[in-house]
Amino acid sequence: TTTTTKTTKKNGAASASTSTTPYSAMCDTFSAIEEISSRLEIQEKLTELFRLVLLQEGGGEEQQSDDDDDDDNDDKKKSNTTKSDLYTLLYLASNSVAPQHDNVELGVGDSILIKAIGEASGTNPQMIKKKYDTDGDLGTVAQTSKGKQTTLMFGKMSGPKRLNCVDVLTVFREIANVSGSQSQKWKVDKIKSLLVRAKGVEPKYIIRGLQGKLRIGLAQTTVLASLAHAVVLTRPKGVVLLGEDGLKEIRDLDGKEGAYPDFARKMCTKNLPLDVKLETAVAIIKKAYSEVPSFDSLLDALLSVPLQEVHKACTLKPGIPVEPMLAKPTKSVLEVLKRLNGLRFTCEYKYDGERAQVHMTPEGGLKVFSRSLLNTSEKFPEVPLYVQESCKDTNVTSFVLDTEVVAFNRETKQFVPFQVLSTRKRTEENAESAKVQVIVQAFDLMYLNGESLLDRPLAERRELLHKNFAPVDGKFQFATALDHTENGDTALIEEFLENAVKGQCEGLMVKTLDVNAAYEPSRRSLNWLKLKKDYLEGLGDSVDLVPIGAYHGKGKRTGVYGAYLLACYDEDSEEFQSVCKIGTGFSDENLKELAASLNKSTIPEKSSQYNVSDSLACDVWFDAVQVWEVKAADLSKSSTHKGAIDKTGEAGRGIGLRFPRFERIRPDKKPEDATTSDQILDMYYAQDSIVGGDGGGMSMD
Ligand code: ATP
Repeated sequence: TTTTTKTTKKNGAASASTSTTPYSAMCDTFSAIEEISSRLEIQEKLTELFRLVLLQEGGGEEQQSDDDDDDDNDDKKKSNTTKSDLYTLLYLASNSVAPQHDNVELGVGDSILIKAIGEASGTNPQMIKKKYDTDGDLGTVAQTSKGKQTTLMFGKMSGPKRLNCVDVLTVFREIANVSGSQSQKWKVDKIKSLLVRAKGVEPKYIIRGLQGKLRIGLAQTTVLASLAHAVVLTRPKGVVLLGEDGLKEIRDLDGKEGAYPDFARKMCTKNLPLDVKLETAVAIIKKAYSEVPSFDSLLDALLSVPLQEVHKACTLKPGIPVEPMLAKPTKSVLEVLKRLNGLRFTCEYKYDGERAQVHMTPEGGLKVFSRSLLNTSEKFPEVPLYVQESCKDTNVTSFVLDTEVVAFNRETKQFVPFQVLSTRKRTEENAESAKVQVIVQAFDLMYLNGESLLDRPLAERRELLHKNFAPVDGKFQFATALDHTENGDTALIEEFLENAVKGQCEGLMVKTLDVNAAYEPSRRSLNWLKLKKDYLEGLGDSVDLVPIGAYHGKGKRTGVYGAYLLACYDEDSEEFQSVCKIGTGFSDENLKELAASLNKSTIPEKSSQYNVSDSLACDVWFDAVQVWEVKAADLSKSSTHKGAIDKTGEAGRGIGLRFPRFERIRPDKKPEDATTSDQILDMYYAQDSIVGGDGGGMSMD
């Protein structure tokens, strides 16, 4: 009955007193970003903010040491401040409080926020609620309520101590970590303590941040790119020299020793040029983050080794999930052979379950992670046990396995459809009490006994997998595979595909074995091709789209939505582009459930991140929070839809889906994991006969 706090690792954030970046600086950047839609301009704004922190040299009065002899200590403090401030900014900018695998999420309920705003501003919560109902944005409501309070209570005189970024992240973290029946009041007090210190636009972003929806159109990739730009632009140009006594010197291009920011010195351990191309830096940082998706590890590396080597310092380690490798769709066995162009490959069954990365750390702990990097150890408590049973060799001290966990009937020894697996609870006691039994289908080994295997070819990784693990009846199996035959016999592969489908699999995964066969984290790679039964039947691949708005229903659908507007994701502009209206494929139950869950995420107007033509204006707009799997008859050029709008080669025409049908929700995907506009374009061109356009075929307009 009391309030409990989850004990998650306290990463790089320092105590409030060591921060030097005012929260207002972060909020000013958020405000500026909210006003612009160009991804490059957004990136520039965030880069400027990161540069401010890098350039401050860990300054700030609290950090200045009076004792000149204590330089080393002082240096350490400065670097720690730079790190903790940067780390804090990265979290605030990505509206998160911990790495994904810690499973700690913001998402404070409206009633708590309304109470806190009421208490902080001395306004009746009923009034706040009313304003929220009309405005639709609790952040703006907080800002205006707070504005009144400032004049009433503090006037223009000085108020309480201004917030800095670490203050805010610290409270966000405490709130995200706490649970229990007493926590409500405690949360209200905590939020109030922030709000009474907030000024200007700060209340708006505090509230939106706590809701878990910043809504300024800032994606994770932009945060990483901005960090890379900030580091490159702030680094001195010149070279680093190692002195004989180990002391480092930084020379600028004229050979003079310059006065450089502290962080630059920290980075320099080798005789390497200091200037790095912006694109190279972005690629290095993205690679490092895809292998170790944790800001803490990334900054540790960034502030301790030369930029050129960050990706070598920040590599896969057991305990932190790596971004999984993904596959490209193909439509026929012939296409597979053409794409692989003579390279040796293997075909594996594509199991229809849930992806599970299984890690064993040197300390002996086993953990399971999902496709979107969440820790799913509690959902699949038997998976570590099955894997342990499979690996009896006591010489194995650590590993990272890639597997698909599939629902399985032990009596009939058959796989059970994915829909059944998705009824598993978030936390299951053990295998016996769980309604759905599962089996682990292992297909890759990325790490073994202290060594990353990511760069090794699949043939070698697979050999090590088979050498160190063994099948366990009804619990652990290797993916069924058929290796490439020299004569490229398509009939054999077709038969294998048929067997896969008969055995409840989705189709095949085709993977290169020796050449171009490394494990590529987070890449939808050409080295992994998927071949699904559906494409062979001419149905086309399903797509994963984001519901961004809806239209009120009439007649039988009164009270629920009659149709939804769906969008794909454009990685270049980081916007969601409409590709179809959908009203088919829903059961009555679906319609009720979808409306109830999306109504929690309505926004007052179309987001600046949505590219939708005026003719499709929705009655209600939603935040991008869900991903739906949808099947369509085909794709066609459209002057109303905006899929791949800048890439079709025809001004003003995008690509849309014809006759879409709802299949299911994809809870394992984040909105940014939705089908991209590039994939939509590929699918459009891959159609046997291209539909639509003004030249004759059926157009969807
Ligand atoms: P889909 O909608 O097809 O599931 P996706 O975007 O989740 O697509 P894809 O790259 O298309 O992912 O397909 C790879 C997925 O297939 C993996 O994430 C994994 O969960 C599953 N899978 C099943 N069997 C295998 C296998 N043998 N090798 C790799 N992945 C497999």
